[in-house]
Amino acid sequence: MKFHEMNVQEIANALRTNFTEGLDEKEVKRRINQHGYNALAEGEKQSALLLFFSQFKDFMVLVLLAATLISGLLGEMIDAIAIIAIVLVNGILGFFQERKAEKSLDALKELSAPQVNVLRDGEWVKIPSKEIVPGDVLKFSSGDRIGADIRLIEAWSLEIEESALTGESLPVQKNTQPLKIPNLGLGDMENMAFMGTMVTRGSGMGVVIATGMKTAMGQIADLLQTAEVQETPLQRRLEQLGKILIIAALFLTLLVVGIGVLQGQDLYTMFLSGVSLAVAAIPEGLPAIVTVALSLGVQRMIKKNAIVRKLPAVETLGCASVICSDKTGTMTQNKMTVTHLWSGNKTWRVDGVGYSPTGSFFDKDIIIHPKSEKSLQQLLTFGMLCNHAEMIEKEGEYSIDGDPTEGALLVAAMKAGFRKNVLLEQFEIVNEFPFDSKRKMMSMIVKDKVGRKFAVVKGAPDVLIGLSKSILWNEKQQRLTKELTANVQEAIDELAGNALRTIAIAFKPIPQGTMILSEEEAEQDLIFIGLQGMIDPPRPEVKTAVKECRDAGIKTIMITGDHVITAKAIAKQLGILTKGSKVIEGNTLATMSVSELEDCVDDVSVFARVSPEHKMKIVNALQNRGHIVAMTGDGVNDAPAIKAADIGVAMGITGTDVAKEASSLVLLDDNFATIKAAIKEGRNIYENIRKFIRYLLASNVGEILVMLFAMILGLPLPLVPIQILWVNLVTDGLPAMALGLDNAEDDVMKRGPRHPKESVFSRGLGWKVVSRGFLIGLMTLIAFIVIYRRNPEDLMYAQTIAFATLVVAQLIHVFDCRSEKSIFARNPFGNKYLVWAVLSSLMMVLVVIYSPALQPIFHTVPILLTDWLLILGLSAIPTFLLAGTFYARKTKRNMI
Ligand code: ATP
Repeated sequence: MKFHEMNVQEIANALRTNFTEGLDEKEVKRRINQHGYNALAEGEKQSALLLFFSQFKDFMVLVLLAATLISGLLGEMIDAIAIIAIVLVNGILGFFQERKAEKSLDALKELSAPQVNVLRDGEWVKIPSKEIVPGDVLKFSSGDRIGADIRLIEAWSLEIEESALTGESLPVQKNTQPLKIPNLGLGDMENMAFMGTMVTRGSGMGVVIATGMKTAMGQIADLLQTAEVQETPLQRRLEQLGKILIIAALFLTLLVVGIGVLQGQDLYTMFLSGVSLAVAAIPEGLPAIVTVALSLGVQRMIKKNAIVRKLPAVETLGCASVICSDKTGTMTQNKMTVTHLWSGNKTWRVDGVGYSPTGSFFDKDIIIHPKSEKSLQQLLTFGMLCNHAEMIEKEGEYSIDGDPTEGALLVAAMKAGFRKNVLLEQFEIVNEFPFDSKRKMMSMIVKDKVGRKFAVVKGAPDVLIGLSKSILWNEKQQRLTKELTANVQEAIDELAGNALRTIAIAFKPIPQGTMILSEEEAEQDLIFIGLQGMIDPPRPEVKTAVKECRDAGIKTIMITGDHVITAKAIAKQLGILTKGSKVIEGNTLATMSVSELEDCVDDVSVFARVSPEHKMKIVNALQNRGHIVAMTGDGVNDAPAIKAADIGVAMGITGTDVAKEASSLVLLDDNFATIKAAIKEGRNIYENIRKFIRYLLASNVGEILVMLFAMILGLPLPLVPIQILWVNLVTDGLPAMALGLDNAEDDVMKRGPRHPKESVFSRGLGWKVVSRGFLIGLMTLIAFIVIYRRNPEDLMYAQTIAFATLVVAQLIHVFDCRSEKSIFARNPFGNKYLVWAVLSSLMMVLVVIYSPALQPIFHTVPILLTDWLLILGLSAIPTFLLAGTFYARKTKRNMI
């Protein structure tokens, strides 16, 4: 059907819908059944079976399986079956780890899926774009991504950028007129909006004509299927490290085998031991555990209202050194209430709480009737008219649908007894020039009952005053002289000085026969009516968050479109503007070059009256100074700066689709404190990754060294292959995962940010791995030698002791890994997952030592109770050594 040729009524008939009520629930269900969900077909995913088999594609695992098969054929049936079983269990563990990582990433995608504003059953609701059907009526505005193919039925200064579809990057101006031109290309269909394109300006309404694969985008969807799997820098570095570790492990294993054979060990036994050792020592699970740790951390962030859209951001968060944050809604509550009004040298006060439309107006301390004062009446009614906010009342509770600033103006007018529907009977809205942060104002062209037209403008007072040529002064229109301008300026400063956000209202009559085509024409030569001042209280948690950030070496900068005095007042309340820090205004910023800004940016705490495009300059200057910058934003024009920042942060509630798409972090509650929480979590995730790298690698070093030392000393094998594999299974899996879930250390927000290029092994971690690995190997060897010397006839008993010592030493070490300092720096049992993981690992070892059925398989014999003292004593020595050196160093430092 050619919808672009039809008029509005024909479209409604063709799609069996209506534009005042929308579709009802029953009809929506029917249409979903008929047309399916509004989603583009996704690319093939790796099947579960394939993922399972991919766990065994590792070269060393294949060699082990082949070797085991040979040993099975040679008669070592039990050994062979046991080894295969262990490899299988290992594979299953790996499979579940990867599955979990994949699932949580999918869930994340779902969470950040776009929402659309749709008319259903007579009410405007927000639903996931997946659920829209043909015939649905949608509303959209600047910054929205269009959710389906739409025929426009209303367009207010609507411009849409369609490059995703047509390749043309200049936005197209849209209208609603039927187009009866044959063979129109997509780019010429000015009364249509297409799925995946982006609203860059204005607002509109339209009816869905096609969804999912039937849209223009769906037709070319095959071309667009780009599966975006993003690896974090750490994951990439660890992959490289993994390769080095494989080579090192193989080399050492060969050394063990070579020396063993030279010392007279049986070649076949040495081969199987070597392969088992290689399988155990190669940290093949590391990348999967890192992904799991990252994605579990991401889940924890979701609980704190932060959604990570790009995994690498998790790491960058830990390096952030500056947060540039919007004020309105992020640092303040965005619950605005008009408390003061000013017009023609007169100030009134309004009381009342929240959005409830009840309150009194005061002139000084005397209650007045607001309708009795003409200028006040105009201030209120024009504030209500040039306004999109709607009041919602549910069971006596009032809330606002729309922009909170406009909500405040609406409520103030309602308190005076004005009602929007009554006002709209007197004035018809003919045209609108929507608000944008650059102009800092909006205007509407309205027509009254007798056909007179007016432009009604509202916006930032300092902007409007510059565009006005007269003013209502003492109820009379007067020329706006310098003196009167100074009076207005004084009133603005006074309201702003009390941390009030100020909005000015102005208007002008439009002479008969004049056509107003552009916003410049509408917004000049105005008659200034007055000011409305509203409170927007700071969020209570922000002050503490700013302080915590400062303690963590992270500076907070407020960037706001609001008036400089209002911004300063709030920045002071929040502890952002401190002694010696500077404030720069947008007009000064506009004249500065990036390098000029660079010279002073470290001292600036507030940027006021800025336009979104200034944000880019700020990001660049800060980055040139070596900062890692988190930058917040919500509108279309914020997107470039969000993209350029190291961590782009978009608002979940007020943010546009475009800002969200450009961001790497979305704040579900638009709250500054959430950025701090995400940074803390980011730091913690990184520390947790360091914790299990430390644990896993030290364990592997220990396993290799005990074998190497024994071979060098000409001793028998301290561990048989199946024991090596069992140690690997028991110690690598659950305890390492549990470390990934660890809580942050108390001082995680008391140290400075990490350098982004810092190696995982920095801050002494490399030394910790090697020294602890050495000690674990040494202690296991000592246990083996002591018992073997006591009774050289009973090799199996000595091997069982070595096996137990190796495991216990690792399981004690895992508690050490919880802290960069010492095991006693925090409650060692504070991580309950770890306690359970260690207990279950211990059980798995005790079972193979004490169960008569398993003893022949694992070549073990029961250990005497007294020998456990030796095992525990030796295993604990490294921990006490470490704690001892830590406290000795600390005492020495304190003495100096
Ligand atoms: P922030 O950048 O911290 O979110 P902000 O909301 O003040 O602060 P903008 O949205 O760019 O920044 O608004 C800039 C100015 O424009 C405001 O200070 C206000 O005077 C004016 N303004 C804001 N919203 C509207 C609106 N809906 N209609 C008209 N003027 C508005």
